Amino acid sequence: MEKIQMTTPIVEMDGDEMTRILWQKIKDQLILPFGDLKTENYDLGLKHRDETNDRVTVESAEATLKYGVAVKCATITPNAQRVEEYHLKEMWKSPNGTIRAILDGTVFRSPVLVKGVSPCVRNWKKPICVARHAYGDLYKNTEYRAEGPGKAELCFTDSQGKETRKTIMELKGPGILQGIHNTDSSITSYAHSCFRYALSTKQDLWFSTKDTISKTYDHHFKDIFAELYEKEYKEAFEKAGITYFYTLIDDAVARVIRSEGGFIWALKNYDGDVMSDMIATAFGSLAMMTSVLVSPNGQYEYEAAHGTVTRHYYRYLKGEETSTNPVATIFAWTGALRKRGELDGLTDLQRFADCLEKAVIDTIESGLMTKDLALLYEGEATALNSDDFLAAIAGNLRAAL
Ligand code: NAP
Ligand code: MG
Repeated sequence: MEKIQMTTPIVEMDGDEMTRILWQKIKDQLILPFGDLKTENYDLGLKHRDETNDRVTVESAEATLKYGVAVKCATITPNAQRVEEYHLKEMWKSPNGTIRAILDGTVFRSPVLVKGVSPCVRNWKKPICVARHAYGDLYKNTEYRAEGPGKAELCFTDSQGKETRKTIMELKGPGILQGIHNTDSSITSYAHSCFRYALSTKQDLWFSTKDTISKTYDHHFKDIFAELYEKEYKEAFEKAGITYFYTLIDDAVARVIRSEGGFIWALKNYDGDVMSDMIATAFGSLAMMTSVLVSPNGQYEYEAAHGTVTRHYYRYLKGEETSTNPVATIFAWTGALRKRGELDGLTDLQRFADCLEKAVIDTIESGLMTKDLALLYEGEATALNSDDFLAAIAGNLRAAL
């Protein structure tokens, strides 16, 4: 069999712990035997981040801006305990935060569905992808506790020094206050990422806020989306046969529950935080949740939504075998390979990504899976360790190709 060729490299970001172990196995067993994989490698393992004073994280994001497609392994975000464990020079920042800031991106999360692991909501037949705006609002707020009565005002001083005041409340007794903000530039970037991702995955885009109550703040989100859609995306959406749909968040929640799935749900920061946890849990397992960071200029970074699975790694270090689920990490690779194939016009590469995903799903639907899924599976399931599961996938992949 001839090996599948690539033209442009994928930016490969290696990571930590159990996912780092799986990363190498996935490459060795499911990718390298079938294709001439081209990657530009950045080792984001904590030790190397420390050695480079975290420069490698910045360089990997810059390479993503240059090449357009990256695949990332889960990484440790250091806390005090990790600083000690790895003898770190500093408590380095979250790599995902650093990369997101450089790419100015939005994270889209979608579950991988297999027959036998049913969503809690019976009518969900297709994945629901949640897009969370990750800037401002509650997460960059200023709060105040008023211990007694008084007047609370919103005061804005413009660059010329002119003040505008609005009364929030004349407090008759003790109370609490909160100031939040967002920027046109961040909301616009977010909207671009959502429209682009909808086009790139050919899914309808839903957006919801509480604009009827928040007539300036939330309404402004709605206006920015609407204006951008009319000006830049409407034609492309119509051509792709997909729709953009705005509705009030309460209405959206009700519709999501009654839907079949198969769309992107864009949400403000807090709404996205809460709803993404609900959607992920309702679909089954964190180990089956994929994640892609999309920049407003159309760069893509694929990863698994879960972390480095530390508990399994410590068992692995003791020489025990683990049944760690590699599915989300495999789908990060297939996402990146397919996107690279699309951008470079390589149909064989796109087909390979499709075949690998199908091999994963076929393997699970034949009853072979890791322990976490076997516990959820509604049929006769054999729980395999990670190596045997990967070998079973490789067998199905070989047959499919
Ligand atoms: P985690 O790695 O997601 O694991 C939490 C638990 O979920 C595991 O102990 C395991 O449960 C289960 N699990 C997660 N992924 C699994 C998989 N693929 N297969 C089987 N079970 C899986 O979260 P964490 O333990 O809170 O965080 C560990 C490290 O990951 C931290 O250092 C954190 O900073 C980092 N992290 C990185 C990212 C990222 O890079 N995107 C995201 C989140 C966390 P059982 O032990 O019960 O089997
Ligand atoms: Mg949350």
